[in-house]
Amino acid sequence: MQVAKNLISHSLSPLYSKEEIESITKLIFEKVLGLTRLQVYLNQHEIISAANLAQIKEILNRLSHFEPIQYILGETEFYGLKFIVNQAVLIPRPETEELVEWIVNDFKNLSPKILDIGTGSGCIPISLLKNLPEALAEAWDISSEALDVAKLNASLNQVDIGFCYADVLNSVFPENQKLYDIIVSNPPYVTQSEQSQMLKNVTDYEPDMALFIRDSDPLVFYRLIADIACSRLKTDGNLYFEINERFGNEVVELLKSKGFSNVVLKKDINGKDRMVKAGLKSS
Ligand code: GLN
Repeated sequence: MQVAKNLISHSLSPLYSKEEIESITKLIFEKVLGLTRLQVYLNQHEIISAANLAQIKEILNRLSHFEPIQYILGETEFYGLKFIVNQAVLIPRPETEELVEWIVNDFKNLSPKILDIGTGSGCIPISLLKNLPEALAEAWDISSEALDVAKLNASLNQVDIGFCYADVLNSVFPENQKLYDIIVSNPPYVTQSEQSQMLKNVTDYEPDMALFIRDSDPLVFYRLIADIACSRLKTDGNLYFEINERFGNEVVELLKSKGFSNVVLKKDINGKDRMVKAGLKSS
């Protein structure tokens, strides 16, 4: 066990921080050996099999190319739940957990109908359904690979969601008359000019389609999704967005100009403008 621990810290210390190495080590032991941190500690003098050691070396090799540990292990945790992830979907972020928390608090003990636009791994509607047991949810995405992952995650977490292909930029979405209490979206919001400041593990591995928008029209998804919400949100429903911290005021103004009321901008745990909520009621 100690041999493996030393191997991990030795090969990762030039590339990763002490905290990152600690959490990666914990994840590797959990996944490869099925052991918790305490079990690792209690069994530290046990010998690891050659097969397990080879598996750990393969993981370290991929980490040395900055592949995210979540993709290597094929899973991650979000809002206390397990999610399958691969390169077709964005790795769920802690900011998005804060968005989910906001919605869960607003709709506690209610039975809202939810639509998530650009669902990716499905982390938003799945964690909402787990925490609002009377709710119903639908989720759209342009990527059929992402929808496949989201469907796996819905069954892994034992919730029912109606998944649909949709292409918001080209106005392709289900032409039904359904109305929702909650429309939520974490659309692509990183401008291409911000791409150069991002880490290799994001830009080389995560899906561009889920991340980037053109500098010339950074609010394109917000505008189009706000239009969808204008016709598909119930009068007392809410629209929720995750946003780029640089565009808080612009998103607020955009929503006001489209007739939304009670527009609230909220910061994330790092003090950055990260979420917006808006309603349609005129009061
Ligand atoms: N928060 C993500 C990041 O900075 C971006 C998510 C998104 O574009 N919706 O990597």
